[in-house]
Amino acid sequence: MEKNLIIYNSLTREKTPFIPNNPPHVGLYVCGPTVYGDAHLGHARPAITFDILFRYLRYLGYKVRYVRNITDVGHLEHDADEGEDKIAKKARLEQVEPMEIVQHYLLRYHHAMERLNVLPPSIEPHASGHIIEQIAFVEKILAAGYAYESHGSVYFDVEKYNTKFHYGKLSGRNVDELLETSRQLDGQSEKRRSTDFALWKKASPEHIMRWASPWGEGFPGWHLECSAMSMKYLGETFDIHGGGMDLMFPHHECEIAQSCAAIGHESVRYWMHNNMITINGQKMGKSLGNFITLEEFFSGSHALLTQTYSPMTIRFFILQAHYRSTVDFSNEALQSSEKGLERLLEAYSRLQKLQPAGDSTTACIEVAGLRNRCMEAMNDDLNTPIVISHLFDAVKAINTVADGKATLRATDLEELKSVFSLFINDLLGLHASDNAADSNATEAYKKAIDLLLEMRLQAKQNKDWATSDRIRNALTALGFTIKDTKDGFEWSL
Ligand code: ZN
Repeated sequence: MEKNLIIYNSLTREKTPFIPNNPPHVGLYVCGPTVYGDAHLGHARPAITFDILFRYLRYLGYKVRYVRNITDVGHLEHDADEGEDKIAKKARLEQVEPMEIVQHYLLRYHHAMERLNVLPPSIEPHASGHIIEQIAFVEKILAAGYAYESHGSVYFDVEKYNTKFHYGKLSGRNVDELLETSRQLDGQSEKRRSTDFALWKKASPEHIMRWASPWGEGFPGWHLECSAMSMKYLGETFDIHGGGMDLMFPHHECEIAQSCAAIGHESVRYWMHNNMITINGQKMGKSLGNFITLEEFFSGSHALLTQTYSPMTIRFFILQAHYRSTVDFSNEALQSSEKGLERLLEAYSRLQKLQPAGDSTTACIEVAGLRNRCMEAMNDDLNTPIVISHLFDAVKAINTVADGKATLRATDLEELKSVFSLFINDLLGLHASDNAADSNATEAYKKAIDLLLEMRLQAKQNKDWATSDRIRNALTALGFTIKDTKDGFEWSL
């Protein structure tokens, strides 16, 4: 298959043709969650963005090794190296083992991802399971001269690093300015300057998660796990590193610095970042009271929500924006996604029932070009909103045919079915209901209504108006709309 995928590389700030280092293999690393609370809308976006990439790369014929890490140690409250470990704090407050916190929230995270139809990655490594690799990584950086030990901790020397490499190139920070201000501010700390970041932290006596190291008992700095685990599973050079834009600085900037310092060159060939989600124009945050978990969306149990939203509505809502644009959540926006998705899936199900007309009839839509138009949009940096708009053009045509106002040739009908199944189910990962049990029940229910309406049709043919009216009136009373067509009937609820 021809592969014309172009992706925007956040490092070069350019759209670039995607050519893997070692085709057909593709290495993909995405920063996963810190598991100390329930997943929220902000977790859904990177998960869905890179799920689309994963699905599309596999469709293009690549053998993708997708690594998404689990942060279960070292992520301190103030992101870099200050404050208490987020998981240890929760464990202290709830008087449980830190790994109980991790297990609890990881199961819930997996459940939410499954409901969003996010495929599991190939490997999901835990930071706490890769302490040996992280210690070895620190030793490499120390040996190269870009880190220093101080009171049992090891810090990355940003100023020294910046004499040979360029710290700040990903996030566009002006490092001279950073170093200048930090020179004036520092003095008391065990760090030489505030821009330096921890590779290894000495554990205070009350710190629960701790491991022996050449520098005493401690734990790894947050940025280190991604460098160590991506290198372990994807090698010293790998294709794509993804994550949310909020991770560009300091997290990804530090990852680049760690790799360059340890091995002399960058590991990542393409950096991809999804933009953020705002709620009614505001950043999401616990203190702002607009922090809505995915579970709360699914159950409608948050004060800001006027109704429940299905996982598929959330998924569709996210895919209706390009991953590099911001998305603003509101009830109105989600309700319109809900309606849009319904219209798309309804047309998809109508499509299955269409009968082809003879080959002599003219096609009412340009079916032949649809697949290519959708593919072009996917190739253009995963432009899912454009894919969706092409599918909606086809929805109009399907409805015209279903209403008997136009016809489709057999070959066009088959092509439409194939394009819809590929893009809606396989690549966008959308489906009609949340789980297989629901979908079986829905199927059985549809067949039961069809059966009733067939009995009504038979009654009409036998001029048994009493039975025919009884079925029609009973279904109408239950809220069904029944339409007689030339082939039989159509119904909706
Ligand atoms: Zn990371």
